[in-house]
Amino acid sequence: MHIESLAIHAGQKPDPTTGAVMTPIYQTSTFVQAGVGEHQGYEYARTGNPTRAALEACLAELEGAAHGLAFASGMAAIDTILKLLDPGDHVLASNDVYGGTFRLFDKQYRKYGLDFSYAELTDLDAVRAGLRPNTRFVWIETPTNPRLKVVDIAAVAEIAHTQNPEIRVVVDNTFATPYLHQPLTLGADVVVHSTTKYLGGHSDVVGGAIQTSDTALFEKLKFLQNAAGAVPGPMDCFLVLRGLKTLAVRMDRHGENALAVAQFLADHPGVADVIYPGLDTHPQHAVAARQMRNFGGMISFTLKGGAEAARKLVAATRLFALAESLGGVESLIELPAGMTHGSTKGSPLEVGPELIRISVGLEHKQDLIEDLAQALASQ
Ligand SMILES: *Cc1c(COP(=O)(O)O)cnc(C)c1O
Repeated sequence: MHIESLAIHAGQKPDPTTGAVMTPIYQTSTFVQAGVGEHQGYEYARTGNPTRAALEACLAELEGAAHGLAFASGMAAIDTILKLLDPGDHVLASNDVYGGTFRLFDKQYRKYGLDFSYAELTDLDAVRAGLRPNTRFVWIETPTNPRLKVVDIAAVAEIAHTQNPEIRVVVDNTFATPYLHQPLTLGADVVVHSTTKYLGGHSDVVGGAIQTSDTALFEKLKFLQNAAGAVPGPMDCFLVLRGLKTLAVRMDRHGENALAVAQFLADHPGVADVIYPGLDTHPQHAVAARQMRNFGGMISFTLKGGAEAARKLVAATRLFALAESLGGVESLIELPAGMTHGSTKGSPLEVGPELIRISVGLEHKQDLIEDLAQALASQ
């Protein structure tokens, strides 16, 4: 089946007891047992819940994975992957990652003896040079948050696996979603998501997920999911399942709207630089055109007036709401330096105060362009 159909049906069938078309919200913490250990697959809801099982199965199919796990947030999913490591292990990460990911790496796991280094993963020589004998993970975001660098997943996975087949290539696929590309089919080993963003798609739920076809790895992750218990509740799972049904149509429109907004910004005299993988001025436009179905809904840009103009602009938009997060139906605008990426201050990943990031929503593109035009005119 195509991904449009899988997003609606995978992991879900009408409820056998009532015929309900939608997966029920199994709001229960425990499940009755006929005798000790005799149950219908569920015993305690931290270990497993049918609503969560439907979401895990659906997301696994969307990523072309054998296994899926759902978590209470994207960060809980990332935290669970990091727990696979031992002191002395090294992670080679992209030099542009979500601020919360950097914070967890640098401010928490470093003190447990894990080593993190950050390289320009769009430069394959830098990937080769960054790998060490103790490298266990290569951590890719693509497009990266917030600079929208596009990493060639297949090329990086090939280099890492050639150097050491034990290295696991992890892709945070939050920005692209499986609709724009499926990292496992490109050679990655593990995919992680913040389902809070495009997968949920409606800014009404926080969640995370992991997909992999490596069964041994999955067993360890599943053990950790149950042992630590950062699981999503059934209502949250239901909301992501509901959001997923329209993933394909939403991603098509996000991409169409973002391209129009990026072109408008690129032509505007007050704009200094526009970063959007769909513009042929983007340094990895060719990789993006080959790797992605469309170029996604995220744009970063700077103004000729610098940081001060940026602060004024984000306060002057009416349709674009000033808020963290992304991937919802409504358009959002933010300054990463003071908001989503505050934790990178003083680090090599620090984001300049002039950078503006927008999440282009599903409003009419003309309304979005007019809003940015009036906000730019008010500078
Ligand atoms: C938001 C985000 C996360 C963290 O997800 P939460 O659901 O907020 O915990 C991780 N990676 C990327 C790329 C994100 O944008």
